[in-house]
Amino acid sequence: MTAQPHSGDCYINGKWVPGDGAPFQKTCSASGEVVWTGRAASAAQTGQAAEAARAAFDAWEQTNLSTRQAVLERYAEELRLRKEAMALAISRDMGKLLKEARIEVDTMVAKIAVSIKAQADRAGEHSLPADFGHLDLTHRPHGVMAVFGPYNFPGHLPNGHIVPALLAGNTCVFKASELAPSVAPLMMDAFQAAGLPAGCVNLVQGGRDTGADLLAADINGLLFTGSEHTGRMFHRYFAGRPEVILALEMGGNNPLIIWEPTDVEAAAEIAIQSAYLTTGQRCSCARRLILPEGRFGDQLVESIAERARHLAVGPWNDDTAFMGPLVSAHAAAQAVTFQNKLISEGARAILPLEQKDENLGFVSAGLIDMSGAAPVDEEMFGPLLQVYRAGDIDQAIALANATRFGLAGGLVCDDLPTWEGVKGRLRAGILNLNRPTVGASGQMPFGGPGASGNFRPGAYYAADYCAWPQASQVAPSSLR
Ligand code: NAD
Repeated sequence: MTAQPHSGDCYINGKWVPGDGAPFQKTCSASGEVVWTGRAASAAQTGQAAEAARAAFDAWEQTNLSTRQAVLERYAEELRLRKEAMALAISRDMGKLLKEARIEVDTMVAKIAVSIKAQADRAGEHSLPADFGHLDLTHRPHGVMAVFGPYNFPGHLPNGHIVPALLAGNTCVFKASELAPSVAPLMMDAFQAAGLPAGCVNLVQGGRDTGADLLAADINGLLFTGSEHTGRMFHRYFAGRPEVILALEMGGNNPLIIWEPTDVEAAAEIAIQSAYLTTGQRCSCARRLILPEGRFGDQLVESIAERARHLAVGPWNDDTAFMGPLVSAHAAAQAVTFQNKLISEGARAILPLEQKDENLGFVSAGLIDMSGAAPVDEEMFGPLLQVYRAGDIDQAIALANATRFGLAGGLVCDDLPTWEGVKGRLRAGILNLNRPTVGASGQMPFGGPGASGNFRPGAYYAADYCAWPQASQVAPSSLR
């Protein structure tokens, strides 16, 4: 099937319409050029999108699973056809390196097969014999799901909610991130070309006001990936409404413990990947590095600083760059402000994070010694790694756990008993040994305790929050 290019800001009930709300733009943080111009959905349009999803729900729920799967498999093919356009849209909106944006699109394509497997595994149909007949377990969709995405994976993360939601028989209204609006229309094009019935997925563009309109619409669920602050606010908003399913995937203040491995250089490289990949704009990036006191720790700091100093920073289309810019000049300025706050409280910059040009998003990688400072338990969504030192592994674990969050963590160590001890005590939903904290597997759940979410992990476990279980006792006849 050929790709049908979109024309309009919003995709409502299978049709493209211009937004009636406030105009807005997105500027590329690598070049300063305007890369997206459009209008937000008005409140009325957001309401219409939710109504369209409601009207489409019954028929989509009643469509058999194999047909829903087939539509989504065609969607995967349509995404594949648009890979380059989608990767470019992501790169230019948020400055993500094109090579990484291409991987993001590959992950979106792979999500369909993983979701089909996860749905069967975690939310499928099961039957058990009973003396009166049998016990049946099935899973039913919730209804209309509002999907909110963050800017750092503007395709992959909303896709990671939308695909399992549709597969389970829900319908969706997707509000794209206002900081990365360009890829969402291409996703809608792919759904349209795949033959997804009108109304099953709808797109509204816009910022917080549009988000607020969507929260107020007639929805059965909120599938959110974004910051702790926003997730917490949404949780408060729905307080007292247990009938609305909330899946909140939020941030982290992730620790990486490096405990006397033999290969200092390999350990330093794991730290670099963990802290600076995607310019630190991954929720699973390490923010805090915990090292032993003494010579080994000193050597490691030197090695990490040396590598970080030479990381190539460049625009999205520079194949040799390791880091692109942050999403905006504002985000870059905020990163510097956060670092300065730590310094004003006693921290020392081993390698300062610096904004190169106040009009652009480029920053250098930062490394900061926290020995003399009181920790600030906030997520800094950029390439700044805070170094802490511990006298023994117990102190290292205590430092790692000294956070409200619980998303990701890591240990670099050659001693398996140490790993077993850390694994049993460190509170992190994603906890790796001798691997970077970033780059989670889609075959696993993704989420963690504390302020990182509301115990509705995504990825492989997204099937769980997209459907509710229905248990039946079935006797073949009412006759005794
Ligand atoms: P954000 O919370 O600012 O925005 C997320 C979405 O919520 C956007 O669509 C935004 O428009 C909307 N929103 C924000 N404030 C709102 C309001 N007051 N009313 C209505 N809608 C509102 O997040 P972000 O800055 O785009 O993304 C970065 C954050 O996402 C980081 O904290 C990161 O850790 C987190 N994240 C988490 C995961 C995960 O799986 N746990 C993955 C990626 C990113």
